Amino acid sequence: MHLPKPGDAHVLDLFSLKGKVAIVTGGSRGIGLEIVKAYAEAGASVASIYRSSSTAHQLAADLSSTHGVTIRAYQCDVSDETAVGAVFERIVADFGGKIDILVANAGICYTAAAEDMSTAEFRSEMGVNFDGPWFCARAAAKYFKAQGSGGNIIFTTSISGMIVNIPDKQAIYNASKAGLIHLAKSLSIEWIDFCRVNCVSPGYIWTDMLDGVPKELSDEWVALTPAKRMGETYELKGAYLFCASNASSFMTGANIVVDGAYTVP
Ligand code: NDP
Repeated sequence: MHLPKPGDAHVLDLFSLKGKVAIVTGGSRGIGLEIVKAYAEAGASVASIYRSSSTAHQLAADLSSTHGVTIRAYQCDVSDETAVGAVFERIVADFGGKIDILVANAGICYTAAAEDMSTAEFRSEMGVNFDGPWFCARAAAKYFKAQGSGGNIIFTTSISGMIVNIPDKQAIYNASKAGLIHLAKSLSIEWIDFCRVNCVSPGYIWTDMLDGVPKELSDEWVALTPAKRMGETYELKGAYLFCASNASSFMTGANIVVDGAYTVP
């Protein structure tokens, strides 16, 4: 077993992603869009995967010209294994034959009493939140193994994979994220020869995912957060950059929690 050593360098160079190619799923909005921007700012070329956004291609073109790196949008439903394999092939061909970083970030969240949830809803939520990252990780691992130059997989998990809120009614979401944290740990060992696998678990961050959350509930989250506020998407940039860069070269199987201390008490 051998985890590649990148060599010591100036600390800011350790965070550089110059020359790297990253795939970010769910890159059209919210947390994923912030990751795309962060990686572009750090010098990476980025393939941003979306499901049905009508603005993803224009957004990618605008970000490309702002940051002077290649950013392209790709439509793919991450819960479809065949589609994932095909889009990874296209991306590798479009980006000079390699990938270095995968952020499996796309996710959805249903709020419903467990006994009311249909099998179709269960499959759909697990399909995007658990099967999707697995399909993407396996597709990326194939290239990382063949390339032999190391690789980085980052799963967007959640504090919901670590604790359960009361009352929550997000049993399947919580289970999908808990499963992903454990999947990362398992893969970090199994794949240690050719890539690192880590998680970022955000606390409550205002994005479209929280549309429709009643104010009383978000007030309760804030009250329960020692930081006494919710997070902003840009406050996750550092964690995702750290995980993707040589600054974290000895870290694999970890879960970085960014939650204003919500899970601490
Ligand atoms: P948003 O709802 O803002 O964005 C979701 C993103 O995922 C969009 O880019 C969407 O694409 C994409 N997506 C959804 N389904 C699919 C699919 N089947 N295939 C491909 N892409 C898909 O969510 P957030 O930014 O808030 O969430 C991002 C991740 O962070 C999720 O995994 C979520 O569980 C996690 N998270 C979020 C927290 C929060 O408080 N917001 C807290 C902890 C974790 P499109 O634009 O085309 O619809």
